[in-house]
Amino acid sequence: HLQSCVCKYEYVKSFEIEDQVMLPNLILVLIDGRDFRRFSDIHDFEKPNDEKALNLMNSCAIAVLEEFPDVVFSYGFNDEYSFVFKKETKFYQRRASKILSLVVSFFTSTYVTKWKEYFPHTELRFPPSFQSRVIVCASMEVLQACLAWRQNDCHVKNLYNTCLWMLIKNGDTEREARKFLEDQFPHKQHKHELLFQRFGINYKKLPNMFRQGSCVLKTEMEDIVKYNDDGTPIKRLRRKVIVVHSESIASRSFWNGHSYLLK
Ligand code: ATP
Ligand code: ATP
Ligand code: MG
Ligand code: MG
Ligand code: MG
Repeated sequence: HLQSCVCKYEYVKSFEIEDQVMLPNLILVLIDGRDFRRFSDIHDFEKPNDEKALNLMNSCAIAVLEEFPDVVFSYGFNDEYSFVFKKETKFYQRRASKILSLVVSFFTSTYVTKWKEYFPHTELRFPPSFQSRVIVCASMEVLQACLAWRQNDCHVKNLYNTCLWMLIKNGDTEREARKFLEDQFPHKQHKHELLFQRFGINYKKLPNMFRQGSCVLKTEMEDIVKYNDDGTPIKRLRRKVIVVHSESIASRSFWNGHSYLLK
């Protein structure tokens, strides 16, 4: 009986969206917190950068890399993270909707599970959610362009928000501060000068994690398991997940240093 049921409804499967990402394309999953402006307000995030919240995001990204072996690299800042799968991955037959739903639901449930660890004194007032999408990168150059795009957003937004919140903390309303920045300090260089001359802040000295975002990636390390009788070590190759901050994650030098990642 079970057999006949399976057959009778089998045709419904053909209505599913076909979304297999073909080789040699690279799969990039982008996730972003939904309405985190409100989420960060309600949970009293420090502005412009709440370090605990960023560390929580990083910790969720670490969990993703540990859970899914084929995710080899990720980059995040603010309320977003991008995950790169190794080139030849066969994960869920490379089906975009399966992959992105697994990554984003795992990330979200980890965020909720770990909340208390990072915010022991703040109750989680409502369940956060994240949206996600897949970007198909036809080549390494396209992948680098995507990462450069995300990191550029990090640079631009962080510089802007740093100025904005300095003005607000010094008495401006948010509206006034935004208008002032638009009218008087539209360019990047001007914003650096505003911070330095008016507030004595050297932007380049702010924490790397704020200015550059965070990368979570897999490295290969040799562990000494034990020693032979003659004293020579027995080594084992182990993949370890680490967090790094880097000025330019899309640069050739960065990827030359981490070329093993995508093999
Ligand atoms: P959407 O649903 O369209 O993504 P959003 O409100 O999440 O809306 P974003 O452009 O994603 O809009 O911006 C994220 C917001 O969350 C920003 O306003 C930012 O200030 C806030 N935010 C996220 N993480 C942090 C953090 N670690 N510290 C301070 N503020 C944060
Ligand atoms: P996959 O990742 O392929 O979906 P799976 O282990 O989730 O693997 P399913 O076919 O989705 O496989 O089956 C779900 C499993 O979870 C079943 O083995 C079922 O026994 C168990 N399960 C789910 N919900 C319940 C429940 N409410 N009570 C008891 N068992 C449950
Ligand atoms: Mg968002
Ligand atoms: Mg965002
Ligand atoms: Mg299941």
